[in-house]
Amino acid sequence: MKIIRTVSEMQNLAFSFILENKTVGFVPTMGFFHEGHVALMKQAKKENDIVITSIFVNPLQFGPSEDYEQYPRDEEQDIMNAKDVGVDILFIPQTQDMYPNKMVISMDIKDRVNVLCGKTRPGHFQGVVTVLSKLFLIVQPTRTYFGRKDAQQVAVVDALIKDLNFPVELVTLPTIREKDGLAKSSRNVNLREDERVDAPWIYKALEYGRQVVVDGEKNPAIVVKEVLDTIDNHTNGKIDYVELLSYPELKPVSTVDQQVILAAAVFFEGARLIDNLLFDRSGEIVKHI
Ligand code: AMP
Repeated sequence: MKIIRTVSEMQNLAFSFILENKTVGFVPTMGFFHEGHVALMKQAKKENDIVITSIFVNPLQFGPSEDYEQYPRDEEQDIMNAKDVGVDILFIPQTQDMYPNKMVISMDIKDRVNVLCGKTRPGHFQGVVTVLSKLFLIVQPTRTYFGRKDAQQVAVVDALIKDLNFPVELVTLPTIREKDGLAKSSRNVNLREDERVDAPWIYKALEYGRQVVVDGEKNPAIVVKEVLDTIDNHTNGKIDYVELLSYPELKPVSTVDQQVILAAAVFFEGARLIDNLLFDRSGEIVKHI
């Protein structure tokens, strides 16, 4: 496995892969790998000649009072994991190299960001699409791999690729969970012991909400209320949001009669956690989006 730390070297190598007609699978991450990341890398490995993973904790997507400094990092361990999975190139750029100057161009997102995490984290998705546009142009992948754990991110990246004609195919994989249902997240290590005990209730509550739909309830307000109450009754976290919206458009729905996202975010002291379920009108989990 080759470790590349400069933008210019990465971009030059990417050009050479294009000339050699090699397919490139790209997994952008912020590091501190867990099985969610590994699943994306393995899928990329199956479908491409070359797998490139990037590690970059992108300052642009963190708000001033968010956890940029506290975000967990362990480069040495990540290098070992990536090597084990068979990643060909680990791209670890420096912030100074990604953003040598204050950016003149800023990307405006008109839709899909005035709800869910976009509402609580103003500017977050602007930071995400900025860094991904740069990474796509540096790495020039054939396919890029994202987890549906961050389903709003998937909806925004889908729009980014289509709106700007990035010549890359978006592949998404389902959320990988701990045995107790908690969605794997790099941030889970920052939870206190008692918070870690509460945290799986986010998933349990979402599952409960989905079950209500399976049982025939079509009113989103009732489904959302069930989820809110369940999280409230079983955790000491502060609920940021519980929402049920159309997916991937992320519009309010008056009745559950299409593919929807049921999503929640909860602030614990150690970390803000998010989770979601994507399902159809009968409550059946969506396998492909
Ligand atoms: P991050 O390092 O948190 O930015 O995540 C990098 C990629 O891994 C993103 O596409 C995430 O959606 C994905 N990812 C993170 N956690 C999970 C998970 N539990 N299951 C599946 N994919 C995940």
